[in-house]
Amino acid sequence: MCGEQLARAGHQVRIFDEHLAWEKPCGGGLTNKAINYFPFLLDNPYPKKLVHAVDLIASDEQRVTMKMKQPIVIYSRTVLNGMLLKRAQEAGCTVQRSHVIGVDTASQKPRFCVEGEWCQADYLVLAAGARNQLLPETRPLQRDELEMTQGYFVPQTADAITIKFLPHFEGYIWSFPRQDHLSVGICGSMSAHTSTELRSHLGEFVEQHKIPTGNAKFYSHVLPSPQERTFSQRPVLGRNWAMIGDAAACVDPLTGEGLFYALRSGELLGRALAEGCPEKYPARVKAAFSAELEFAARIVRRFYRGSFLGTSVPTRMVQFMRKSPVFRQLVGDLFSGAQDYTSLKQRVLGHLGISLSQFVSSVLNFEPPRVARAPRGSNAGD
Ligand SMILES: Cc1cc2nc3c(=O)[nH]c(=O)nc-3n(C[C@H](O)[C@H](O)[C@H](O)COP(=O)(O)OP(=O)(O)OC[C@H]3O[C@@H](n4cnc5c(N)ncnc54)[C@H](O)[C@@H]3O)c2cc1C
Repeated sequence: MCGEQLARAGHQVRIFDEHLAWEKPCGGGLTNKAINYFPFLLDNPYPKKLVHAVDLIASDEQRVTMKMKQPIVIYSRTVLNGMLLKRAQEAGCTVQRSHVIGVDTASQKPRFCVEGEWCQADYLVLAAGARNQLLPETRPLQRDELEMTQGYFVPQTADAITIKFLPHFEGYIWSFPRQDHLSVGICGSMSAHTSTELRSHLGEFVEQHKIPTGNAKFYSHVLPSPQERTFSQRPVLGRNWAMIGDAAACVDPLTGEGLFYALRSGELLGRALAEGCPEKYPARVKAAFSAELEFAARIVRRFYRGSFLGTSVPTRMVQFMRKSPVFRQLVGDLFSGAQDYTSLKQRVLGHLGISLSQFVSSVLNFEPPRVARAPRGSNAGD
């Protein structure tokens, strides 16, 4: 996305990726927010699955189904990466399958090493993902800024997304149906859980849901789970380099959504560079979405570890969703990206009844509304 912006503005861009279009471990789900912002993600002939329903399962097995007006669009990453690389090539980028061994940003012009040769550039964009080892003048993401993931690509199809919460667990299990297979996996905080724990939870889930993993491909990967300090303390821009996507920790720590933020950060950096002012990139990211991600970072622990009236927050959420269509719609909108976190307070206070408002206020950590008598015939408690 970044290369495409720059090439369209007339710059010479070289893209290096050691895999190019590959099945990067991922759910591959694009929210409504991503589709609205980048309509080409829906309007194209590439194979993808449009999903309108999400089954949420609490740790005590209570269930609820959310129906979404706007679909979640799910891609195989080989297809999605291939589409983005093709767009970049058509805009004029050259694309090369190579491993970048190192970068050196000490001189005026930065250098990078591929195929045993050091080459010079005017500017380096580092988009090497969550396992990024190319760290000029910045630090790697630490354990408490990462999530572990494990999963399977299973040759089977389904029509709904499944999300399952677990007791005392900072993360969740998911099953994302793609066109001809499922991506089923688990994510959990790296500082709170071990890989053995993850594997055992996932094993129980696939067994219980009769998902055959005998011929399935197993994967594991890491996912940034930024803390508030990640955004304020970790540089993602220097004199002649910048980071985007997972390398810059542009991921929602509550949901693990990273595709939209990777695309958007790439676009923002590409535009800032094309205008000749890359120094504007961090402020533009902040204005576009990092306030949202910081908000999610503030509530993530309370969401997974907190309780409301003696029951864990995810279980209470499922219970309330079963009872209230209004609340179910609100969570559906949050999930699909139609509702952002930062304007949630207004919507909650305006539209939910007292117990639901108190529940959401306790998770989001804002002052709950004062108890007022509902007018006769009101369905505000819904
Ligand atoms: C299991 C899992 C499930 C997920 N599910 C979802 C989901 O459903 N929806 C969502 O929005 N997000 C999801 N995410 C997050 C999403 O996958 C990432 O946020 C997104 O891929 C980030 O894009 P990126 O381009 O920054 O990094 P990546 O997609 O990781 O791409 C980095 C690229 O850099 C290349 N590379 C790395 N090092 C080098 C090197 N030294 N030389 C050359 N090339 C190199 C790699 O080959 C790779 O292609 C998930 C993540 C995981 C781990």
